[in-house]
Amino acid sequence: MRIKKFRCIQCGGPKINPYSTPYIMCDFCGAFTDIDFAIGIEAWEQDKRTTLRYQMQKADLLSRSQAALAQGDRDAYYYLQREYWDSYYRSFPAYLPPTIDTDEKYAVYLEVCAVSSVESGFDPKWQKYAAHQQLLQSSVTFKQIGAQAKADSSGFFALADFFVSITREGMRSFYEDPRYAVMHQLLPETLHFKMKTSMFAQAWLPYLTDGDGDRLLKMLGFSNEYEEIERLDGNTVECPSCRCGLFAPEGSYRVFCERCRRSVAVKSRFLCVSCGSPNNIPDRIGDAIDCGQCGIANRLIVPYFGQ
Ligand SMILES: [Zn+2]
Ligand SMILES: [Zn+2]
Ligand SMILES: [Zn+2]
Repeated sequence: MRIKKFRCIQCGGPKINPYSTPYIMCDFCGAFTDIDFAIGIEAWEQDKRTTLRYQMQKADLLSRSQAALAQGDRDAYYYLQREYWDSYYRSFPAYLPPTIDTDEKYAVYLEVCAVSSVESGFDPKWQKYAAHQQLLQSSVTFKQIGAQAKADSSGFFALADFFVSITREGMRSFYEDPRYAVMHQLLPETLHFKMKTSMFAQAWLPYLTDGDGDRLLKMLGFSNEYEEIERLDGNTVECPSCRCGLFAPEGSYRVFCERCRRSVAVKSRFLCVSCGSPNNIPDRIGDAIDCGQCGIANRLIVPYFGQ
């Protein structure tokens, strides 16, 4: 089995365990740190009927959203957007970020998706952006290459550049908005950006030549590098919810159970570097932990990989 060449942005650990959704969870600190674009495409193509049904629902909800927008009906727009995001994640559960692991978090997340869609939908600046994107999109020309119609490079990259720049701008103001503060935990900005651009790439790749496809993936920071799974020393721990055996490499604090999509603690206590007394390991391992006994700040994961 080959997996994406990957180093955790939190602790520098390599990816060890196989994964089944586009989201890569670190096997050392449990952080959610990257997206594997290729798995995203697999999930999309897995069941053609689901994808087709989703596309029809989407077209219907978007045209009704447009009508609500034209009538200035914010409430109707909100409910349609909520329904749209719900239909997206129910059709493709693999796309739901692994940090959203309870019904409560899902409800909070859908609410943020719907409210922020209303904000941008009714904002004149974003309406102008959307119109410009539409214009660029309709200016892309296609020519038949073999059995497939392929988009012309210059038209497509004018669209892609514009899409990336407005997505960046939108992300920045979204993550600065205190109303959406919960999103820093649920879906950190860099990953959210990757998720949005991954959806864009997924929609366009079939219409790009191989050269343009590579150029797009490089531009969006999606690496195509894969490597064999590393075999490290470690132990098998049992997932407390589904009871399956999870491989925890030496030095690991948290591993992710792909079966029930939950992060599982490998160790519960550590000894303070200064006084040696035992302390509990918190959920967020990346943060400094003040020793309960002597108050010295301990850092669990940074020294591990010499970063
Ligand atoms: Zn890590
Ligand atoms: Zn499990
Ligand atoms: Zn201490």
